[in-house]
Amino acid sequence: MVAKVCVIGYGVTLSPHKDSHPVRPINSGLAQTKPKPKKKPKPKVKVMKTVNQSVIDGEIDDYNSRSPSPDVDSWQMDTETDIHTDTSDKPRTDCVNKITTKLNGTIVSPKKNIQKGKINSDKDLIEAMHYISLHKSGPTTKDTLPDSIASCTRPSLFPRVPPYLKFVRHDETSPLKIPPAIQKHLKWKLTTITPIVVKKTLTNSGFRLIKSECDTAECPQEETLDWIGIWGKHMKSLMFRAIKEGQKMNHFPGTFQIGRKDRLWRNLQKLSAKYGVSEFGIMPKTYVLPHDMKILKHEWEKHVANDERWIIKPPASARGTGIKVVSRWAQIPKKRPVVVQRYVSRPYLINGSKFDLRLYVLVTSVHPLRIYLYHDGLARFASVKYNDELSSLNDRYMHLTNYSINRLSKNYTPNEDFAACEGHKWTLDTLFQYLKTEKAVDTEALWESIKDLVIKTIISGEGSISALTKANVGSRYNCYELFGIDVLLDEDLKPWLLEVNISPSLHSASPLDIHVKGPLVSTVLNLAQFHVPARTNLDALQPGHDCKLDGLPYDSRLYTVYLSKEERDKHLIYTNIEDRQTYLREILNTLTSDDVRSLICAEDELRVCDGMERIFPTANTHRYLTYLAGPRYYNRLFDAWETRYSGDRHAGISLLQRLCATGYHLEAPPVPLKRAAAELSALDCRMMWTRRRRPPRHAPQRRTCPRPTAPRQRTQQQQQQVQQRQQTQQPRFACAGRSRRRRLRSSRERNTDLNMNRQKT
Ligand code: ADP
Repeated sequence: MVAKVCVIGYGVTLSPHKDSHPVRPINSGLAQTKPKPKKKPKPKVKVMKTVNQSVIDGEIDDYNSRSPSPDVDSWQMDTETDIHTDTSDKPRTDCVNKITTKLNGTIVSPKKNIQKGKINSDKDLIEAMHYISLHKSGPTTKDTLPDSIASCTRPSLFPRVPPYLKFVRHDETSPLKIPPAIQKHLKWKLTTITPIVVKKTLTNSGFRLIKSECDTAECPQEETLDWIGIWGKHMKSLMFRAIKEGQKMNHFPGTFQIGRKDRLWRNLQKLSAKYGVSEFGIMPKTYVLPHDMKILKHEWEKHVANDERWIIKPPASARGTGIKVVSRWAQIPKKRPVVVQRYVSRPYLINGSKFDLRLYVLVTSVHPLRIYLYHDGLARFASVKYNDELSSLNDRYMHLTNYSINRLSKNYTPNEDFAACEGHKWTLDTLFQYLKTEKAVDTEALWESIKDLVIKTIISGEGSISALTKANVGSRYNCYELFGIDVLLDEDLKPWLLEVNISPSLHSASPLDIHVKGPLVSTVLNLAQFHVPARTNLDALQPGHDCKLDGLPYDSRLYTVYLSKEERDKHLIYTNIEDRQTYLREILNTLTSDDVRSLICAEDELRVCDGMERIFPTANTHRYLTYLAGPRYYNRLFDAWETRYSGDRHAGISLLQRLCATGYHLEAPPVPLKRAAAELSALDCRMMWTRRRRPPRHAPQRRTCPRPTAPRQRTQQQQQQVQQRQQTQQPRFACAGRSRRRRLRSSRERNTDLNMNRQKT
């Protein structure tokens, strides 16, 4: 099956039909309604013009060179303008027609390299791809890479896309052998919370672990700045600006929006108000105190007769710290910030005990949103059998299922065998097996309802995460995040969302833990898709060979967040189309370079999601798009892609392969000038990040001295004073001198105080 490929003004028009099918006209779909007279193509001039325009626009407004859709506010602004256009006399289709035609531009012949052999058959195409990969960008496929590199990397599905580094499991007996020229740069920055299982996976995969504050002869501090990966705590959004090209962090900015219990509830509450409790009532009803005190009181009085139970939790804490189950109003803290939640008092019990589920969820991108759910996880049991009596509410071993609490109970039994239904911790796989065989539960339906809960949970924070990512993250390569989502099943097997952990514990003390978390870590790192660092000395990799390895390392163009003017226009159009059928029909007809980049990244991910299931996007998840804070371009692109190609992935992949063979995906707009300025300010942030030393608590506030803008001209009188001072050897009171004097004075004062105290005693 061969697709027709025509490179046009800003994009490529694709026809997924077989050769025998008529090729679709360029302005297909809506554009077909008004056939236009054929114009003579003026390809090159037009392309050049548009590129230049985008550069200029980029310089003027860096902000605009990104996709307009991720930022909710800017999207609303755009929509308003667009709605205005829509309500004009012309029908909507005309408007779309006009802009689509503008976008499609004039047909230009395919790139020179391709022209050498017209793409008429698979054979020709493969030859053309081969020609390009050998002569234009160097080998990037497994066949053309030296064995030493091919064995430690995974090739992309697409030509002219650098391969990805392979991650092997923590328990791999033969660690990967990485060529020294690459390994030199495989630096992973350690933090105090990097889990052991992550460290083992990294060392087995050839990484060097570097301490944050390392400053030794072998590893000077400058070296620690060039790490390519980090597994650390969540940071403030601004700090993400310090992440450089080619570095990856295991968080997105703004995920506290779902990681804090109060924010999570507020976000879900907004969605419930908009789309109904039947859709978003996935978390037990919660009150954020002291703000919601009055409403809680009102609710409390309604249920007081039923002896309703409530659970009190600190808004941003974990491991069951500060959690209490209560039933009396007097037990509610009146001033302290807490969340008070309806207690699920009829949980699903196994052998009389309550349990909760720990699900592992990976987000590899927020715009487009891509969510993966790990097939395995943990079921954590309470160590005391459950009862509903008021007198037992204080028993934390009965009502809380946290491992950190129950392991202290004398009843707690560890489970050494990951396949066994025994002890107080099971794997999710075992639990589902048990539910299916022993309890005749419809586990497929249960899994579906869990997937629904996970997607809605992530979507509830998507607006803020997306906006903060757009504002603070400079490359699509920089972030991914693993979440631990806790879920409780009630007696009807309805899953209730308890909380989202943004740094889920990967502590693996028992064989059961390591069985679940070991493969999880290598899968997560493989899905995060690390490249060979750009600093790698390629000549040292293959000395004496003519064949260059230019296509091997990280290529920033693949992950640029900047868009050309035409790409931005396309985003605007398809973000503002209301009808799904319209964008499904149109959006894939003209793929931009940026579209291709997003799609190849996602297709490459799908190849390594070993044990993880991509739950969003799929061909059936478009209904969730309405719950997002606004229509998102990339999510629509993926909706259309999945609708068309999920049944025949091979067809989609081969279309992308053809485009990549021409190098189309590498046509990225230049980085706007403003970005350079932004990077400078990020430098301060970077310094702050690498040397995070807190100032002493009670340090006196420094007064900054205004610096003279021009060199000072001394008057004659001043000159004389200086000379006099030099003769008498008096110190010169400059800014620094002044603070030194202040320090001296204060230490002198302290000493006198001390002496006085001593005298007193
Ligand atoms: P933490 O972050 O401290 O672990 P969680 O919200 O996960 O806090 O709650 C700890 C435990 O308390 C859960 O594992 C669960 O067993 C129990 N729990 C929490 N909320 C509820 C609830 N609404 N109904 C019933 N049990 C709950």
